[in-house]
Amino acid sequence: MRAVQFLGNKQFRISEVEMPQISSDELLLKVKYTGICGSDIHVYQGHMAKRNYPLIMGHEFSGEVIEAGKDAAGMFQAGDRVTVNPLVYCGKCHNCRSGIRHLCTERTFTGYTSDGGFAEYVKISAHQAYKLPEHVPLDVAAMTEPYAVGVHAINISGLNLGDNVIILGGGTIGLVIALAARSAGAGQIAISEVSEYRLEAIRRLGFTAIDSKTTNVKEAVMEMTDGIGADVAFDAAGAPVTAEQVTQVLRFRGTAVIAGLYAHPPKVDLNDLNFRELVLKGTTVYSDRDFKHAIQSMPVESLQKMISHRLPLEEVQNGFETASAAEAMKVLIAP
Ligand SMILES: [Zn+2]
Ligand SMILES: [Zn+2]
Repeated sequence: MRAVQFLGNKQFRISEVEMPQISSDELLLKVKYTGICGSDIHVYQGHMAKRNYPLIMGHEFSGEVIEAGKDAAGMFQAGDRVTVNPLVYCGKCHNCRSGIRHLCTERTFTGYTSDGGFAEYVKISAHQAYKLPEHVPLDVAAMTEPYAVGVHAINISGLNLGDNVIILGGGTIGLVIALAARSAGAGQIAISEVSEYRLEAIRRLGFTAIDSKTTNVKEAVMEMTDGIGADVAFDAAGAPVTAEQVTQVLRFRGTAVIAGLYAHPPKVDLNDLNFRELVLKGTTVYSDRDFKHAIQSMPVESLQKMISHRLPLEEVQNGFETASAAEAMKVLIAP
């Protein structure tokens, strides 16, 4: 089969590799669409821990079942359209046994620790696969994983009906948090962003766009909330300035949620927390329940609007360069 192997150092190789051989509890999928994730770009640019190369990356994918191992055959059959949870848990560590398997300390990840979706075929454990409802097309299905990140962030935040929400950063993660907030019944939802291209995408999706190049974000949020401050704020940018803003924009006893990845430890004013009794929370990936809910509640039209590019497998490198630039939202590869 054809696959794109990452060799490190911004280098990809299009190769003919062996077909994956499945064991009894695994599925063989024909990959339909695979998204390029912000974390893939970090790996591509060498900003993340070294993996074992060559590696077939890609953890946001949809596909069609070609073959099910004998223990999985009762659950899946050839022709099933599925989306995939890339997290693989050990089931034995303290966190797994405490019911927080997504924080498994021995966790592995399809597309990072084993071969992923930038290939014609991929093998996965049957428990990673979820059948798609009929109304979810395969391109949008490849965005289940990022959408589940948004669902988890909202569940972590403890958002209540009518809460006013500010999201700092309008990349994929910022937008999926906004979509999940809307579906959870938030009041006003605003997103701050510097890129003109992304500001336009924010408006197209029906959210309030705050241009942080020309607008003071704290003042804009205060104006939007009658001088009170947001109920919940998310840092989805991981920039030094957004780390400062995420507490400043809150009302007394508001909740700040950290969803971005910081390249360097940021400076934050923790006095803001005690004096105003703020709550600070972190969020990472998604639980099985979040993932399932993401599939069932997927805002199909909005997610479709977030897809800016669809490229063939041969153009993975071009896709990574495109996705690194500010003039792209979600880039999908169709192997
Ligand atoms: Zn991802
Ligand atoms: Zn574990």
